Amino acid sequence: PQPNPQVGAAVKAADRAHVFHSWSAQELIDPLAVAGAEGSYFWDYDGKRYLDFTSGLVFTNIGYQHPKVVAAIQEQAATLTTFAPAFAVEARSEAARLIAERTPGDLDKIFFTNGGAEAVENATRMARLHTGRPKILSAYRSYHGATSTAINLTGDPRRWPNDIGAAGVVHFWAPFLYRSPFHAENERQECERALQHLEDTIAFEGPGTIAAVILETIPGTAGIMTPPPGYLTGVREICDRYGIVFVLDEVMAGFGRTGKWFAADHYEVTPDLMTFAKGVNSGYVPLGGVAISSAIAETFARRPYPGGLTYSGHPLACAAAVATINVMEEEGIVEQAARIGETVLGPGLRELAERHPSVGEVRGTGVFWALELVKDRETREPLVPYNAAGTDNAPMAAFGATAKAHGLWPFINMNRTHVVPPCNVTEAEAKEGLAVLDMALSIADEHTV
Ligand code: PLP
Repeated sequence: PQPNPQVGAAVKAADRAHVFHSWSAQELIDPLAVAGAEGSYFWDYDGKRYLDFTSGLVFTNIGYQHPKVVAAIQEQAATLTTFAPAFAVEARSEAARLIAERTPGDLDKIFFTNGGAEAVENATRMARLHTGRPKILSAYRSYHGATSTAINLTGDPRRWPNDIGAAGVVHFWAPFLYRSPFHAENERQECERALQHLEDTIAFEGPGTIAAVILETIPGTAGIMTPPPGYLTGVREICDRYGIVFVLDEVMAGFGRTGKWFAADHYEVTPDLMTFAKGVNSGYVPLGGVAISSAIAETFARRPYPGGLTYSGHPLACAAAVATINVMEEEGIVEQAARIGETVLGPGLRELAERHPSVGEVRGTGVFWALELVKDRETREPLVPYNAAGTDNAPMAAFGATAKAHGLWPFINMNRTHVVPPCNVTEAEAKEGLAVLDMALSIADEHTV
C-alpha cells in the first residue's frame, strides 16, 4: 500500500476528537494511526513498518489477515451473518465441537461470550451456583478482565480504582520464585510454601464458603510466571479435598501461545472450568467462552443457567474460530510456537540476558516470554518502581521508544517487556526482533547501577 500521511492525519484527528480510549488519561495519549497489517507486521500511514512483538494485546496468534480466516469470515457473512443464541447454527456447533475436542479432560460443553472478562464473569457465576458458596479466591499477581467481578478478581493495580470490595473476592499469593512472596530459595520450596499458604487461606476463610479458586495457568500480563512443577496439580488436590471448583483462565495462555493448545497441557491438570478468548480466533471477531466439565454441566441439565448474552456464539466469530483452529492444525502453528520458543526465542533471550546487566530474569515458553528488567541484578530492584508513572517510568519509556524507532513494537508492563509475537512468527522475524531488543536493552542498561 502507498503511504498516505493525509489520511493518517484525518484518522488521528477524528480519533482524538471522538474516541475515548481504554485505561488512559485521554489528553495524555498519542495513538498511532494504523494503515494496515499482515502476518507479524503492521504499518502506519507514513509507510513505517513495525514487527509486532505484542500480537495486539496478545491475541493475534496466527498473525494479521490470515487469508483463509478472512475468507471464512467473508463466506459466513454472505451465508448467515448473525443469528440469535437460542438456535443451533452450523458455525457455532462446529466451533464448540473443535474447541471441546482440544480442551483437557471432560471439559466438553462450551458457553460462548464476546471476550475474556465475560468468560470469567460466567465461570465464577457457574461455580457459585454449582457449589452454593459465595467466595472466589484469586492471585495477587493476576489479570482477569475489566468487568465488575473480573476486575475485582484481578490482582494488579488496574483493580485499585475499581475496587468496591466486590463481595466474596479474596486474594492470595501464587508462586513466583524470582520475587518470592514466601522467601523461598528454590522451586520446590516455593511450590510447597505456596500450596501451604493456599490451604491456610482456605482454612481461615472457611472451606464451606469458597466456591472457586481461579488462576491463570501461566499468569500473563502480571509477568509470565511459569508455575513450579507440582503447583497446579497441588491446587487441584486441595480444591478436590474441599469441594472447591478449580477455574483456569486461559484467555491469554490458550490456543497455542505456550507451544501447546492449552497451557494446562504442560502441567497435566484438568480444571472444572476453563476460560478462553483471544487466540480462539486470533481476535478477528470478538469471541470468548467457558469450557465446562460434565459435573458442572450436570448442575444445569434440568435447572436453567441464569446467564446469557445477545451475541453468545455469534456466527461470524464462530466461523472465524473454526477457520483459525483448522489453519492452526493444517499449518502446524502450535508446534511452530513450541519450536520457535525452544530454538530461537529462549536461547536468544538468554544470550541477551548474559550481555545486558538490565536483564534480571528471562522466563517463558513457546511465544510467551518475559524479561524482568532491573536496576541491580543482585538486589533485583526493578528498573522502575511497581506501578510507576510519569518521570519514574522514564527508563521503560526510553527502552520502548528505542525499540519503536528501530521498527519493533514491544509489549511493556511495569518493569517488564514481554516477547509475545504471533505463534507463527518465522525464525527470521524472531531474530530481527531480538536484534532490536539488543539495541533497546543497551538503553535500559544505562539505568542500572
Ligand atoms: N483473562 C486473562 C488471563 C487476560 O489476559 C485477559 C485480557 O488480557 C482477560 C481475562 C480479559 O479479556 P478481555 O479483555 O477479552 O475481556
